[in-house]
Amino acid sequence: MFLTHWLLLALFCDTYPHVNGWGRVGHSITVRLAQSQLVDSAPEWIRSLTPWHWNGNLSAMSSWADSILSENNNPTGYANWQWSRILHYVNIPDLSCDYQPERDCINDQCILGAIKNYTKRLVTEHDHIQQEEALYFLIHFLGDIHQPLHTGFRGDRGGNSVVGTFMNETSRTNLHFLWDVGLIEVRLEKDFQQNTSLYYDYIYQLMINQTSQIDDNLEQLNEQNINLICSQIYFDENNVTMNASTNFTLGEIYYQRNIPIVEQRLVDGGRRLGVLLNRLAKTRSQQPSDKKPKLCSGTIALIVILCLEGVLAIVGGVLIWLRFKNKLSTTYSISEFSKT
Ligand SMILES: [Zn+2]
Repeated sequence: MFLTHWLLLALFCDTYPHVNGWGRVGHSITVRLAQSQLVDSAPEWIRSLTPWHWNGNLSAMSSWADSILSENNNPTGYANWQWSRILHYVNIPDLSCDYQPERDCINDQCILGAIKNYTKRLVTEHDHIQQEEALYFLIHFLGDIHQPLHTGFRGDRGGNSVVGTFMNETSRTNLHFLWDVGLIEVRLEKDFQQNTSLYYDYIYQLMINQTSQIDDNLEQLNEQNINLICSQIYFDENNVTMNASTNFTLGEIYYQRNIPIVEQRLVDGGRRLGVLLNRLAKTRSQQPSDKKPKLCSGTIALIVILCLEGVLAIVGGVLIWLRFKNKLSTTYSISEFSKT
């Protein structure tokens, strides 16, 4: 039933391993949940950083960081963005079950470093375009890090090399893709008539019924990811460990065991991103320099051009006037001379 769709996506996933995080549905839900949590100055600030034609809908940009990497979506520009590929995940040594920043995130070149970096840039950059770019990366990476396999074992590329079949499909898939897209797709088909809006409403209800507090401590979240990959995600329905040399056959039991985790992670991602954006909006509004209106580089360039044009017009006017004046005085002198 899902064959064609899954096959295409699985092929895409094989070509671009370890990067996608949630599929478009998961990322979109995460960002929409976050946007529903914005308060005070945050909604207007986010709207100002969203393309006008999206009418403030930030979730439309939630998969931008993936789409720029793909030759299909960005045929003439994808090569220029490959530097950002490594920022979508963090790798740890195979079965090590621990994260060491100095070993696993050298020079902040991993998802944890990227979130830290773009969080900072979102409030310190003065250029509007740089702020937009920081925001679009940030909302995506916050989603990615809630997909537990984005803290992955280096050897199997975060589960991309662990392959098998799911839900009696004949086409093969892989563990990473299953967590990115497969589990959510089955949930949508089973219980929501593949209607993403209905599914969003369901996840939203889950979110507003949460009673626990949430923070934006991502180191702790990363530890929880490691705990999940070391204690649950790699275990098949007979509790046998899956790896790159086995061929898994997963179905209803694996789905029922793990879909609650996926949905809790969507909720947590939305809440955490909301908390973070509200905090950044507050920080930004308290910066003294922020009270002054800022001009983007394009506006400044336009003002300079208009000023130059104004100066040229004035100089031109003066020259014409001087020439006209000289002509008048010459004519007057000749006529005076001819009278004598
Ligand atoms: Zn991603």
